[in-house]
Amino acid sequence: MSNESKTVLVTGASRGIGKEVALKFAKKRYNVVINYVMENTDVKTLEQELLNAGANAVLLEKADVTDAEQMEKFVKTAIEKFGAIDVLVNNAGITRDNLLMRMSEEDFDKVINVNLKGTYIVTKIVTKYMIKKRKGAIVSLASVVGVAGNAGQCNYSASKAGIIGFTKSIAKELASRNIRANAVAPGFIETNMTENLPDSVKENIHKQIPLNRMGTAKEVAELIYFLGEDTSSYITGQVINVDGGMIM
Ligand code: NAP
Repeated sequence: MSNESKTVLVTGASRGIGKEVALKFAKKRYNVVINYVMENTDVKTLEQELLNAGANAVLLEKADVTDAEQMEKFVKTAIEKFGAIDVLVNNAGITRDNLLMRMSEEDFDKVINVNLKGTYIVTKIVTKYMIKKRKGAIVSLASVVGVAGNAGQCNYSASKAGIIGFTKSIAKELASRNIRANAVAPGFIETNMTENLPDSVKENIHKQIPLNRMGTAKEVAELIYFLGEDTSSYITGQVINVDGGMIM
């Protein structure tokens, strides 16, 4: 195993956009560090898929982004193994949709806790190592609903708007240490998060998208890879939509 490969940490990468991001970095021979929370995750198959895609090495563990102690241990293991984390992708996220009048405090807190506080917890831990190296790129998953809002998603859109403010603030704080922070705001992307929507809702969604279709996780992964690499070295504090033209 060579230590010359760069290392990416993608949170919540057992499926969906996170997995596609991990595969994209794997193809570029990165050391790929990922976590997940579900007990029944097929870790062996996932690890093999990443190695087959070209990953230099893989570190894959069950660790919850809302648990600072677990994440601290997980990141420390990655640093001991690979020496640094060059790119952090804050991807782990959940939805618990409901109209405001029916939104329970529990569902509100849960979504803020995983999406927003989880992003803060992991970023703080990883940034400590990036500062020592005076180099790093952080890409966090926002959403178009964090910019434009969405009926039935007040908790989720608040968490994503929070990620946008968080990203702009840390971009300002960390620029002098040569660490960039950007957010990616996907529109509707085909993943587990969107597959259970009824056909009528999907048709309605297509009507709002100039490109007239949902996006793929691969299309989001391409942008995230670009923002993680030095080819985007003059871009920081930005929110970039990948949404088929939904928000202009
Ligand atoms: P997904 O298919 O539901 O996958 C979510 C991932 O997050 C899974 O790997 C899951 O792990 C992990 N996760 C959930 N809670 C976690 C926790 N507490 N700690 C660690 N990992 C956790 O979601 P997705 O559609 O790929 O979405 C990925 C990101 O993009 C999210 O931040 C989402 O808000 C954002 N996004 C998605 C869309 C879309 O249309 N799909 C649009 C805009 C933004 P397990 O498998 O173990 O549960």
